Amino acid sequence: MNPFPIILSAPSGAGKTTIARRLLEVRKDVGYSVSATTRTPRPGEVDGTAYHFLSPEQFSQAVREREFAEYAQVHGGMYGTLRREVERVIADRQHVVMDIDVQGAAQFAASFPEAIRIFILPPSGETLVKRLKGRGTESRETIVTRLRDAVGEIGVLDEFEYVVINDELDCAVSQVSCIIDAECLRRVNSPGSARVAAEIVSALQAELLHF
Ligand code: 5GP
Repeated sequence: MNPFPIILSAPSGAGKTTIARRLLEVRKDVGYSVSATTRTPRPGEVDGTAYHFLSPEQFSQAVREREFAEYAQVHGGMYGTLRREVERVIADRQHVVMDIDVQGAAQFAASFPEAIRIFILPPSGETLVKRLKGRGTESRETIVTRLRDAVGEIGVLDEFEYVVINDELDCAVSQVSCIIDAECLRRVNSPGSARVAAEIVSALQAELLHF
């Protein structure tokens, strides 16, 4: 089966990073593309696992050297998907889960039309505010920026093929997993089905000769 990219986009606080993490725990056929960013690590975030944390100079150099499959300025920081991360996961024959913003999703899907785009919504505006405040790691200014950006992000929901409402985490993870299963069954993602169909046709033709 052909591995494909799975883009998860959402307003900050909708829970897409948690969903991505849970997905990796429950499915062996998915891997995660670790993005690069210029933002400072939050407590507990490990370089190379949560993100590749780069200085603005290192990030600009990576842009010049065409290391990114897409990149964008998000909430005042630079974020980008490294080509080598996508290639690493695909080389392992896994679908690549990418936790990227709506601008990056549009850029990436333009170069990789086989990518599937899933938008994660919180169940309500109040929940989004509560989740962002509840992190306890963001300044008031950062929260305001992220909430303001959320309005624009939700505005491009129509560009996404799928939408999952993250009200209950287990349910949201299982819905994303169902989407992946359905996409695996697309004919183009399942080259083995052409072989099975060809075998059936030749068996039927052989049978018909003696009927
Ligand atoms: P955070 O700072 O909360 O980890 O992420 C902030 C935003 O940046 C989120 O919307 C996240 O999806 C987005 N983001 C993370 N990695 C990438 C990336 O590689 N490319 C783009 N375009 N956005 C990203």
